[in-house]
Amino acid sequence: MSTGSRNFSKMPDSLWAATAPAGPDCLPLSGERLTELCVIGGGFTGLSAAYHAAEAGANVVLVEAAEPGWGAAGRNGGQVIPGLKLDPDDLERRFGAERGRRLVDFAGAAPDLVFELIAKHQIECGARRQGWVHAVHSSGAMPLEEDRVRQWQARGAALEILDRDQVAAVLGTDEYIAGVLDPRGGWLQPLAYARGLARAAQSAGASLHGMTPATRIDRKTDEWQITTPAGNVIAKQVLVCTNAYTEQLWPRLTRSLIPVTSYQVATEPLSGELRSRILPKGHVSSDTRRLLRYFCMTPEGRLVMGGRGHIRERESRKLYAHIIDSIHQLFPEASGARLDYYWSGRVAVTLDHLPKICELGPGMWSGGGYNGRGVAMATSMGRLLAKYAGGASADSLPLPPTVVRPLPFHSLRGPAIGMAVAWKLMLDSWEARATRGGGAHS
Ligand SMILES: Cc1cc2nc3c(=O)[nH]c(=O)nc-3n(C[C@H](O)[C@H](O)[C@H](O)COP(=O)(O)OP(=O)(O)OC[C@H]3O[C@@H](n4cnc5c(N)ncnc54)[C@H](O)[C@@H]3O)c2cc1C
Repeated sequence: MSTGSRNFSKMPDSLWAATAPAGPDCLPLSGERLTELCVIGGGFTGLSAAYHAAEAGANVVLVEAAEPGWGAAGRNGGQVIPGLKLDPDDLERRFGAERGRRLVDFAGAAPDLVFELIAKHQIECGARRQGWVHAVHSSGAMPLEEDRVRQWQARGAALEILDRDQVAAVLGTDEYIAGVLDPRGGWLQPLAYARGLARAAQSAGASLHGMTPATRIDRKTDEWQITTPAGNVIAKQVLVCTNAYTEQLWPRLTRSLIPVTSYQVATEPLSGELRSRILPKGHVSSDTRRLLRYFCMTPEGRLVMGGRGHIRERESRKLYAHIIDSIHQLFPEASGARLDYYWSGRVAVTLDHLPKICELGPGMWSGGGYNGRGVAMATSMGRLLAKYAGGASADSLPLPPTVVRPLPFHSLRGPAIGMAVAWKLMLDSWEARATRGGGAHS
């Protein structure tokens, strides 16, 4: 297996890696292991799948190339966001009324599972549930937001629209014309949560092996052999939970997802004065820009700002320029703050904005493609994958398994994403300027 530019021996230099409690021991696999279920990848999807399958009584071995939480799970913004990118009506149109309704319920309730697991296993990850604010950057984005609120309210969710003054009070910036407050959302320290899930999976009986990259998966009669550097796993079933980091392990799966790099910076702890003005009540937020910005305040008072960037996962400071600009623009009073941490990770994007369960072979499935909303969704998808491996019928699942569909022209994704990023940045700033200047936009 090619590991590309990935350095599995080191966690990224993120704020989360610097502040999370240590993870549990996960010794590398050696020798041969027979098991019912092998989970490949120790992010939220894989850890949740391993936990739920082991809790249901399955014999589970999880192999992780680095350590649990090394991938997007331990690098993200920690925003626990309900729902999918597509709205409830849209989902019911696509999947039919009955399955669509189940998918809407599944996605809307995804944060509940996260907070239940944290409470049940007493995971110390600073979890709070003050709500997620979708901040509206232009008048053109408003009708969609109003419609989304109406659709969720019709299904019993208590979303509310915040006007310009209300959103300014909640976020501490007057850059936005309105916002939608979704009380189902919240925040957690993502690496601490991933490590807590790893402990929960071990307590439920799963064997977790770090520094154990799966290098091949082969069908042997009616079982799968997963080859790793110092041993093999022979499993009846396999869950491939490597998401945007899959690479050569299963090239067709890799080519079905677009890996987009997302960047974050964290300031030094801010003064009490600034903390009382920026996100004073602990909300988290991402905005409606095409190239969205997302931000939160950590318990120790650091402002964390993130945003999407390019395809390459390079560690050049130039790639963070637009994130730093976002701090200057949204929170000018914090623009003098020292930046203590810079880090990035891969988001798995799908063309239709929907996550996927794919059937890769008999008894082998993958789960991923959360389009930047994986904290809650990956946790729920892991449970779904565990149920499916445990014998649940495809009909009983909210998200039907599909065949894996590699994207045509996947190899051209670099230049294509580069152009799309530049185009979206231009449209976003044009729209925001038009809105600020009172220009018409529809
Ligand atoms: C910077 C950033 C910010 C984000 N912010 C948010 C947010 O605020 N809210 C939100 O909801 N979502 C956010 N996301 C998305 C979210 O983090 C992901 O959707 C989620 O973590 C996906 O979890 P996962 O378990 O599927 O994948 P990952 O966490 O990426 O896990 C995949 C794992 O597979 C392992 N692996 C890969 N190849 C192999 C192999 N051959 N053998 C063994 N192991 C292997 C990797 O080491 C990795 O640990 C963000 C993502 C990024 C990158």
